[in-house]
Amino acid sequence: MREKYDVIIAGLGPAGTVALWHLARKGFNVAAIDWRNLNTLWGKPCGDALGAHHPREAGLPEPPSTVIKNHVKAIDIYSPGETTRYRVHGEGYIINRNAFGKWLVESVIDKDNVDVFFNSKVLEPIIKDNKVVGVRAKIADKVAELRSSIVIEATGFSRVLRNKLPHEWPIYEPIDPRDTNIAYREVIEYEDYKIDEPDVIRIYLDQEIAPGGYWWYFPESAKSVNVGLGVQGGMGYPNPMTIYKEKLTKHPLLQKKYHVHNAAGAPLPTRRPSNTLVGPGIVAIGDAGYTVNPVHGGGMGYAFRAAYYAAQAIEEAYNRNDFSEEGLWSLNINYMQNVGAKQAALDVFRRFLQRLPNDDIRYGMEKKLLPEEDVLYTSNVGELRISTLEKAKIIIRGLGRPSLLAKLKLVGDYMKKARDHYMNYPESPAQLSEWIKETERIFNEFEQKLAEKM
Ligand SMILES: Cc1cc2nc3c(=O)[nH]c(=O)nc-3n(C[C@H](O)[C@H](O)[C@H](O)COP(=O)(O)OP(=O)(O)OC[C@H]3O[C@@H](n4cnc5c(N)ncnc54)[C@H](O)[C@@H]3O)c2cc1C
Repeated sequence: MREKYDVIIAGLGPAGTVALWHLARKGFNVAAIDWRNLNTLWGKPCGDALGAHHPREAGLPEPPSTVIKNHVKAIDIYSPGETTRYRVHGEGYIINRNAFGKWLVESVIDKDNVDVFFNSKVLEPIIKDNKVVGVRAKIADKVAELRSSIVIEATGFSRVLRNKLPHEWPIYEPIDPRDTNIAYREVIEYEDYKIDEPDVIRIYLDQEIAPGGYWWYFPESAKSVNVGLGVQGGMGYPNPMTIYKEKLTKHPLLQKKYHVHNAAGAPLPTRRPSNTLVGPGIVAIGDAGYTVNPVHGGGMGYAFRAAYYAAQAIEEAYNRNDFSEEGLWSLNINYMQNVGAKQAALDVFRRFLQRLPNDDIRYGMEKKLLPEEDVLYTSNVGELRISTLEKAKIIIRGLGRPSLLAKLKLVGDYMKKARDHYMNYPESPAQLSEWIKETERIFNEFEQKLAEKM
């Protein structure tokens, strides 16, 4: 153990691991701490689906076949009652999370500038002179104080460090439970049933089975599949495991003989990114920074991206010898403009979707009020793209439900407002509090107008 590191990484899930991978290769002295071991890293329950573009966009090599369980070529989205199906084409993987994490960590763990502490618990940040200067951690059953110029908070949804920062620091920002999903999933292997099109993953919208979320069926092969559901938090909805056992198991796809290989649940953030991902001497990435897609809850790819930008910001901070909020600010600018603006727009869309009754979802999909070919565009760009010609067609289709059409227009307008606002993310921390006020104004105004129309 060194007396002082350049960077300490708390948590080696997808976010912390990718940060480690980049920082180790840049030559920084890095300590990384996780309570799992090399074989159980990234062990949090997940749907394991990852768009093929994500590793590339985060500066990582193409994943080898040993870390991929299945190749995906499309996503099918089903309306409630499965009356309509949208097919969205796109390349992706179902990954083996443990193997993926191990692959990345193993490629840097033997470097002289890297110390990884497995089976060790991060306890709290060490704060001195109003900045984070290290962490207190239980390493080999002994409490130790590790010092560094910068700490990376990557402990996932539990936000072990962020939760213990001074409440007046903007990075503290706790999460509203309604901006979370509680998810449960089982990995099952059929005895003698062969999955139709195992290279297509499936998402089922149904507010009765998955209120404020969806249920999924992601084949890992022709015989095994990751099935689960997410339910919006803070609303008093039943526990997703109970719903799984009571309702989902009655679905024809689960009325076959199978073995359960793994069953587990976990919460996840489903909102726009934190107002700021940086504080004095600390950055927060991955679920700890709420860097997920608010609509589908996919968080691995965005954890990678946040980690990539964090490594760049840390390098710049070192070059300037400035580890303050200001010195690390480029992480915010890069993340908000390249990813966060889209996620903010999708946060608007998510709030709308969560309030839509099954009937409206069914009608909207049947009449293609959001055309099938625009689903991918909307989720990639965070914009409801409706050309003039399409608009005319949509209005005709939507005439049966004019109020739904009006809501869709409101949603489109506020998605644009949110995206534009995030694209104008402040150049320095000095303007952050004004920007946060405006963010809150946009989202509160949207909530109010939406409530009037629901
Ligand atoms: C059921 C479910 C299904 C999902 N499906 C998908 C999907 O299909 N695709 C997708 O992209 N995303 C999915 N997600 C989201 C995805 O799993 C997360 O966004 C992603 O894992 C976030 O990575 P992370 O590194 O930020 O956090 P985590 O994966 O939670 O990693 C945090 C790490 O910190 C460690 N840690 C925590 N506390 C401490 C401590 N005190 N001391 C030491 N170590 C600590 C943990 O051991 C862990 O290794 C799903 C989530 C759930 C719950």
